[in-house]
Amino acid sequence: MRSFCIRTSLKLVVGLVWLTGVHAESIPSYKWAIVGFGPAGIVTAGLLLDLGVADKDIVAIDPEFNVGRVGEYYSNVPSNTKTRLFVDFIKACKVFQECHSECIDKLYSYDQEVEYPLQIIVDPLKDITAHLRTKIASVQDSIQALYFDNNVWHITTKGDDHFTAENVVLAIGSHPKRLDYDCAHEICLDVALDKNLLAQAVNTNDAVAVIGSAHSAVLVMKFLSELKTKRIINFYRAPFQYEIVGGIAGMAAQWAKEVLEKNKPINLLRLYNDQQARDAWMDACNKVIYAVGYERNEAPMINGNNAELSYDGHSGVIAPRLFGIGIAFPEQYINEAGNIDNKVGLNSFMCYAQRIIPEWLPKREPNRFISFDQLFMINMM
Ligand SMILES: Cc1cc2nc3c(=O)[nH]c(=O)nc-3n(C[C@H](O)[C@H](O)[C@H](O)COP(=O)(O)OP(=O)(O)OC[C@H]3O[C@@H](n4cnc5c(N)ncnc54)[C@H](O)[C@@H]3O)c2cc1C
Repeated sequence: MRSFCIRTSLKLVVGLVWLTGVHAESIPSYKWAIVGFGPAGIVTAGLLLDLGVADKDIVAIDPEFNVGRVGEYYSNVPSNTKTRLFVDFIKACKVFQECHSECIDKLYSYDQEVEYPLQIIVDPLKDITAHLRTKIASVQDSIQALYFDNNVWHITTKGDDHFTAENVVLAIGSHPKRLDYDCAHEICLDVALDKNLLAQAVNTNDAVAVIGSAHSAVLVMKFLSELKTKRIINFYRAPFQYEIVGGIAGMAAQWAKEVLEKNKPINLLRLYNDQQARDAWMDACNKVIYAVGYERNEAPMINGNNAELSYDGHSGVIAPRLFGIGIAFPEQYINEAGNIDNKVGLNSFMCYAQRIIPEWLPKREPNRFISFDQLFMINMM
């Protein structure tokens, strides 16, 4: 079992106060709590139901129930996935197929070999979320703390709701990474990836620095170029990568190959991102967009600690009865260069979940772990 690293010192008092303040018999109890209901939480709920876990034994917690970050910000973002893969995604789960809606019918009717904006899968996932919420329990809130004691997880929400679960799945998602370069005005990546929003954030006099060279950075450069931004300076570290999991795909790949690589506009400058290049050129930019990937959202406090969680990238296990999935805890693999890389995207989550979730189901009477100390190996730092 992977170790569970805890950065700060143990603050068991917090949990004990919690336990003494709540009457165990009055709080709802579940077998499974799914924390976060973006695409990964939705997949987890669907597959647990497919595997025969009873509706009443599952609770999902999310502040919005709006298909996570992709539902909130990225409906207008061009997808890098062909429609048929989104159809495969929905067909992979029996419970998803119980849901009938116009949006799902529409998804089936599109050209299956074309990549459309993400809206085509966000809308069906909204309907599937609504369907799942008619079956399982759901709490519209954020989880603030998990506390393992007496063989169950005691769960507290920010809104001060309390319940227990035997197993917890963290599907908490991620947010764009930011850097701190010397530029007065940052345009958030969530805004930059939606061309309509980006159009409101830039004008034709702007010189915009775009940091990064993956799918998001290419899309942003394409949009800036189409919006006739005066100057675009791309600070990159890695070459464009197309044929890899999570590489540049769809219309972004086409544009990178045809325009950036063969016919780069004169107002677009690409520079290897080192201190020298930044010293020479950042001053010329009045706006900056960091397209340098995503990092895990902050996890709930666990047994009184703000924990930095490590997990097994082949099983999703963080600790017994505590699992991670989705972009926050993706499947890991060794890429062609021999480095550890992550598999992200809805179909990757689905394939991985189909393999690992059956392994999460308890095979024996689960009364093996009575206390926090037995549940984790704790590395004090
Ligand atoms: C720009 C962009 C383009 C993409 N294009 C594609 C594509 O073409 N094809 C494809 O398959 N996928 C695409 N994706 C989706 C991608 O696969 C993401 O990895 C996926 O949406 C992540 O889903 P998730 O459920 O892991 O996380 P999220 O969508 O981030 O959802 C996490 C949820 O957890 C909630 N949460 C966080 N903390 C707590 C807490 N403490 N308590 C309760 N709830 C909590 C959040 O509010 C959120 O609702 C794209 C994503 C991006 C950003």
